[in-house]
Amino acid sequence: MGQGTDEAGLSYDEVRRWVSEFVVAIAENKAYLTELDSAIGDADHGINMNRGMQAAMAKLDGLIGDDIGGLLKTVGMTLVSTVGGAGGPLYGTLFIQMGAPAAGKSRVTAEEWVAMLDSGIQGVIKRGKAEPNDKTMVDALLPALEALRSALADGLPLADALKRSAGAAEEGMKATIPLVARKGRASYLGERSAGHQDPGATSSYLLLKAAAESIGSGSDG
Ligand code: ADP
Ligand code: MG
Repeated sequence: MGQGTDEAGLSYDEVRRWVSEFVVAIAENKAYLTELDSAIGDADHGINMNRGMQAAMAKLDGLIGDDIGGLLKTVGMTLVSTVGGAGGPLYGTLFIQMGAPAAGKSRVTAEEWVAMLDSGIQGVIKRGKAEPNDKTMVDALLPALEALRSALADGLPLADALKRSAGAAEEGMKATIPLVARKGRASYLGERSAGHQDPGATSSYLLLKAAAESIGSGSDG
């Protein structure tokens, strides 16, 4: 059942398209993300992410070859070096750790993509020490990973599995609204952080949505 998904997999071009889609999504939602961060943070999440992803895009323009791991590492290193605060380095870690299992590969299977996402998320958790329901990006990322894994186990084609994954990320993002923040700047507000959607969970939803929109549609190779 899952074999069809295996063979389909993801190409370098699709991964690159995913990053480009995320760049566009961040640019389009820059004001929104910053507005969310103004309620429970310091009103810079959209600005931070946009600065970092624009810098990453500029790096990608000069990138040659078809190394998926190298591409993701470049994005991650650029985020770490161009974005201050918590969000940039955490996203940097996500991309760097996602790229590690794909070093030297121009194509990965759906299962390898799941392992990459898992590696990236574990990197975020290790670095930020956030647990589920701490009201962070982890609350969108972890449900997305679980949904992707179970959709593929159910035998869904990658494109459909990625849509389910994005749907789970959206649910996770919305579920951060009533939560009291226990990590990051928002945690300084204590109970007053409840009633607001987490900015990082929102940008993470955009990341998974970009994946659903750019990967596995079959328009490639
Ligand atoms: P800063 O909080 O330094 O201003 P940003 O505004 O760019 O950085 O990013 C804020 C987001 O980062 C939060 O909404 C949250 O999702 C995420 N975040 C903050 N701290 C952590 C952490 N320790 N673990 C996981 N995510 C975190
Ligand atoms: Mg902020």
